[in-house]
Formats: sequence, C-alpha cells, structure tokens
Amino acid sequence: MRKLQPAHGGQDPGAVYKGRQEKDDNLKLALAVGEILERNGIDVSYTRTTDIYQTPFEKAQLANQAGVDYFISFHRNSSPKDNQYQGVEVLVYDKSGIKYQMAENIVGALGELGFREIGVKERPGLVVLRRTKMPALLIETGFINSDGDNQLFDEKFQEIAQSIADAILGTLDEETVNEPLYYRVQTGIFRNRENADRMLYQLLEKGYPSFLLYENDLYKVQTGAYQQIGNAIAMEQRLRDDGYSTIIVTK
Ligand SMILES: [Zn+2]
Repeated sequence: MRKLQPAHGGQDPGAVYKGRQEKDDNLKLALAVGEILERNGIDVSYTRTTDIYQTPFEKAQLANQAGVDYFISFHRNSSPKDNQYQGVEVLVYDKSGIKYQMAENIVGALGELGFREIGVKERPGLVVLRRTKMPALLIETGFINSDGDNQLFDEKFQEIAQSIADAILGTLDEETVNEPLYYRVQTGIFRNRENADRMLYQLLEKGYPSFLLYENDLYKVQTGAYQQIGNAIAMEQRLRDDGYSTIIVTK
C-alpha cells in the first residue's frame, strides 16, 4: 500500500500563478496517479481527497499511522521570477535505496514527455521526507509559474499521470525480482511423474510440508521454504532420520 499526498490544500494554496493554485494541480494529479495504481492492484490511500488543510507534520503522521509502504507527495515548483525556470525534480531524504531508484525513474519518465529533467535532489530538512517512516518522495511536476510547464501539464495531463504510475510500478517490479532467498529440502528428482507423486504422497502422509516442483522436464520433490538456513537444516535432519537422502536447494 502506498500513500499519495496532494500537497497544500484549504487555506494553503501552495504556489499561485495567474489565478492557478498549486493545491488544485497537486490534488488532480495525485488522484489521477492513484486511480491508475489502483487499477493495477495497488492499495492506495490519500492524505486528502478534497480541498482541506493539513500541516506537513499531520501529513507525515497520517502516513505513519496508516502504516503505508511508500509515501509520495505531489507538488508543483515555483521560482522567484515568473518563467525563470522550468523542469521536473524529485526530492528525497537521501540518495539511497528504492526511493532514490523510484525518484530517478519518475524524473526520466517525465523527461520523456518533454519536461526538462532537473533531477533528483536530497532534501533531508523537509518534514514529509524526514518524519515519514517509509520510503518517501516529493515530486515537483514542473513550475507553476512557467507557462511552458503549465502547457505541458495541461496538454499531457493523462500521460503524465500514466508515466508517474508506470515509473512507480516499474520500480516495484524491479524490487520483487530481488525477492528473498528460500531454502528448501529436496528429497528426490524424477523424470517420471508417478514416481515423484509416490514420494510426495508418502511425505505428505507423514506430515511433511512437501510439494512438487516441475522444472526442465524434471519433477522435484521438495519440503519447506525457509528464509533461515538453520530451519532448513533442522528439516533436513528430520528427513534424513526418516531415511531420505537430501540436499538443500534454493530453487
Ligand atoms: Zn508545493
């Protein structure tokens, strides 16, 4: 589950340019990204879905209480002078871990839509990055006082939401590739399914948590799936005492 945080709101409009208020752009984009993430099976919660005011402390606290896995804050940037700067940047507490990877992916994805890529910056002083307990990102989707960025924001709004969602989903996919290693105890490897089944049923009858793995035309009879190798060794000993020849495998 991740939390999307449309920044500002209520009495705090964020940056304002030609009557355009940052809080409205932030909310609209957060909701659009959230909708795409939810369609892809991600649980999404929001610090706000309407125009209400929360302090950054409250926003961080809401995320901590909800126990979300990621926190993504939506902002639009502002420069001292109108049309002085343009481009996207993503802010993180520090340049490490999956949040940094996700931030780079988001900047790159928005760059492909035509935004100038300012890049990923460390901002350890920001409350929503410092006070959140989970990986947290703050996206500045262009400058609200840049006519060029506003034009991109409006004309490519749906593509922007899609790109941000894709970058988030893509980063999460990369993460699951590095899934934890599981140790299993293998007691047999067979070309013939019936022989494999015979051993499997015997093990199951004796109460072992066994299963069959079919791989490269071979049937492997395995027992357990342990993150701690010590647990696999203990199971291996039980099986050996029971007369099986065993090896510990990770696949
Ligand atoms: Zn802002």
